Amino acid sequence: MNDILSNLKSVILLRSLRARIFLIILVLGIVPCILVRVTIVSNYEARAVETRASAVQNQLTITANHLVANKYISALTGRADDYTGSLDVMDAEIEMLGDIYEGRIMIIGSNFQVLKDTYGISEGKTIISEEVIKCFRGISTSYYDSNLGYIELTTPIADTTAEGGAGVIRGVMLTSISDDSIVKMADVLGNNAFILEMIIVVLVVTLAAILSKFLVSPIAKLTNRISAVKAGYHSYVQPVDECTETEHISEAFNNLLSRINALDESRGEFVANVSHELKTPMASMKVLSDSLLASPDASVEEYREFMTDIASEIDRENRIITDLLALVKMDDTSGQNLNIAPADINEITELVLKRLRAIARKQNVDVTFETVRQVVAEVDEVKLTLLITNLVENAIKYNHENGWVRVSLDADHQSFTLTVEDSGLGIPEESLAHIYERFYRVDKSHSREIGGTGLGLAICRKVVMMHHGKIDLTSKEGEGSRFVVTIPLSYIADAK
Ligand code: ADP
Repeated sequence: MNDILSNLKSVILLRSLRARIFLIILVLGIVPCILVRVTIVSNYEARAVETRASAVQNQLTITANHLVANKYISALTGRADDYTGSLDVMDAEIEMLGDIYEGRIMIIGSNFQVLKDTYGISEGKTIISEEVIKCFRGISTSYYDSNLGYIELTTPIADTTAEGGAGVIRGVMLTSISDDSIVKMADVLGNNAFILEMIIVVLVVTLAAILSKFLVSPIAKLTNRISAVKAGYHSYVQPVDECTETEHISEAFNNLLSRINALDESRGEFVANVSHELKTPMASMKVLSDSLLASPDASVEEYREFMTDIASEIDRENRIITDLLALVKMDDTSGQNLNIAPADINEITELVLKRLRAIARKQNVDVTFETVRQVVAEVDEVKLTLLITNLVENAIKYNHENGWVRVSLDADHQSFTLTVEDSGLGIPEESLAHIYERFYRVDKSHSREIGGTGLGLAICRKVVMMHHGKIDLTSKEGEGSRFVVTIPLSYIADAK
């Protein structure tokens, strides 16, 4: 029910692609159809009125000539001594013409008096209209009144044989004919066009429904296949290759799926590693406490020795948890965990070295710091301190007795570079690619012995990434290592 409602809503709001396609086809199919019908019908009416008016006008001109030839006007006004025809014949011709065209014909004399009216209503009356005056000047007019439904025509009765020059206007024929036949024809045409239009509308609606369904069918298919993945029937989307777009979406979706799977795998691996790392100190503590419990006569010294070991295992567990927490906090790449502010990098480095010199002294490792210039950069001070501490601590830890550690700081106008070099054990070539992985250690037992968690370099890489910098490593087993960290002086916020 909810599905139907939401489908209906998306159709109404035109959020559905299918609804949009349907509407576009509908508009493209029906609008031209309506335009064609309206244009044809209205053009027909105009053309039909024009044709009829000119046909009637021709006929009227012929009759006007007959009237002139028969001196009809003079006969009617009683001025014709030489009247040649018969008034009845001419009257009949005029009446017949009126009947043929279902209209009314009036003959107006030169004094604007109605000499003859086929309706017999206005004879003797005077008609002075603009059209009649114009016609007396020799211009025949036609006027269509679509509201009252008639065409009015004026035809000059011109005597070309008269003395004093051609074209003496003896009178005017004022004719009104009905437009009934034109309107009837236009109605028939309009009705036929309307029926045709309805047929086209039905066809277009059907076509739009079929076409819109057909066009979105690859998307519907893709949605079903993605749903099948979601429901767990498939582990990847079967590509919909009916069109390039869906093929690309299937491909992109499968890439995303493989990334998610890889992420899932690495998360599983990480959890397994974490459990293992956390269990190791626990197992040691268990062994230590069990052996104490198993020897009821253990001396105070023995107790002290075992308890010291247990305490150091607890410290180790603590270190692992602290490092893990630091890493997990940095996993949020949104930048919200960053506390960026301008900081003096020289000062931070010197502080770290001061803290670590005690350990270095214990191992007889000489730590030096070289700096060319004062460097101020926008960094998260706490995280940068963690980075420098891990690098320098490693350089001291994985060093020889009487070895050296050289830290140097330099900068250009864009970024600063911190180099940590040591004369220590170096890293074998096959380990270089794995060195930043969580819990990766070249020599597991040695690292454990010296209190390593295997998370230090993973943390370093994360800090560098958060600052949009880079970390490079060159190392040779037995000769030493060189870590070079480059970080921009100004922090670049992530594009959202
Ligand atoms: P750990 O806590 O074990 O030191 P790290 O992630 O800091 O973990 O380092 C991972 C491994 O990389 C270490 O166990 C060590 O084998 C190797 N390593 C790191 N830094 C150095 C170095 N400066 N010289 C030699 N080996 C190093």
